[in-house]
Amino acid sequence: MHILVTNDDGITAPGLLALAQEMRKIGKVSVLAPDRNWSASGHVKTMHRPLRVKRTVLADGTPAFASDGAPSDCVALALLGYLPERIDLVVSGINPYANLGHDVTYSGTVTAAMEAVIGGVPGVAFSLDSPENLGPERDYGPAARVARKIIERLLHNGLPNTTLLNVNVPYLPDERIKGWMPTRLGLRVYRDALDRREDPRGRPYFWIGGDVPTGVPEAGTDFGALAEGYVSITPLKLDLTDYQALERLQVWQNHDEENV
Ligand code: MN
Repeated sequence: MHILVTNDDGITAPGLLALAQEMRKIGKVSVLAPDRNWSASGHVKTMHRPLRVKRTVLADGTPAFASDGAPSDCVALALLGYLPERIDLVVSGINPYANLGHDVTYSGTVTAAMEAVIGGVPGVAFSLDSPENLGPERDYGPAARVARKIIERLLHNGLPNTTLLNVNVPYLPDERIKGWMPTRLGLRVYRDALDRREDPRGRPYFWIGGDVPTGVPEAGTDFGALAEGYVSITPLKLDLTDYQALERLQVWQNHDEENV
C-alpha cells in the first residue's frame, strides 16, 4: 500500500504532518505537497510555466517533496511518474477549516483528491472544522485518527475509482466525536462583499471580503452532521451533469422535432 499525502496549505502545515504520521501506520507514505499556501485555489493544471520539485524534510525529519505547483499539480506530478513507485491512494489535508457545500469547487484540499480520481486512483480529502482564531495550538490528533480509521475502512471495503470522499471532522476531542455520517453536500451561504480601494496612484483595486460564510445545518447534509458532532463523509463524483435538467432538455428537443 503506497499512499500519497498532499495538502493545499503547504509542506510545512501541521495538518499535513499529522496526516502523514497516521497514514504511515497503514502503509508506505510519500509526501509531495505545495511549497506555499494554495487554499481556495480550485482545480489547477499548470501549463504555462515549468514545475519544480525540491527535496525537503517534514518537522519530524521524514523526507518529503515540495513543488511550486498547485495541490492538483502535486498529485499529477506524482501519478504521472515523478514518484516511480505506483500510488494506490491519495489523501489530502488535514485542512484547518471545513470544506462544505459549494466549498468543494474552491478547495485545493478537495481538488487534490479530484485529481487523484482523474488519475485513476481513489482520493480522500480531510478537513477539520476548527474555529478561525485558534492560532498554532490547533490539535489535529483526533482528525488524524479519524482519517486512519476511514482509510482502513475504505481499503477494506473498496471504493469505485470514479468516487472521491470529502471528509469533514468536527473540532472535538476523540471521546466527543459521535461517529461518522454519510452525507450529501449542504448549502453554504457566502457573505462575500466587494471592497473597492485605491492604490497610491489613484487606480482602483479590489478585495473580495465580507463576513465568514455560514451554512444551513439540514439533516442528511455535511453541515447537519458537523452541527451534531459527527464526522461528515460525502462521496463526490466529477460528473457534474444535472440529470433532471438533461431530461427537460430532451423534452425540448422532442418538441422541436415535432414542430419541424
Ligand atoms: Mn487550506
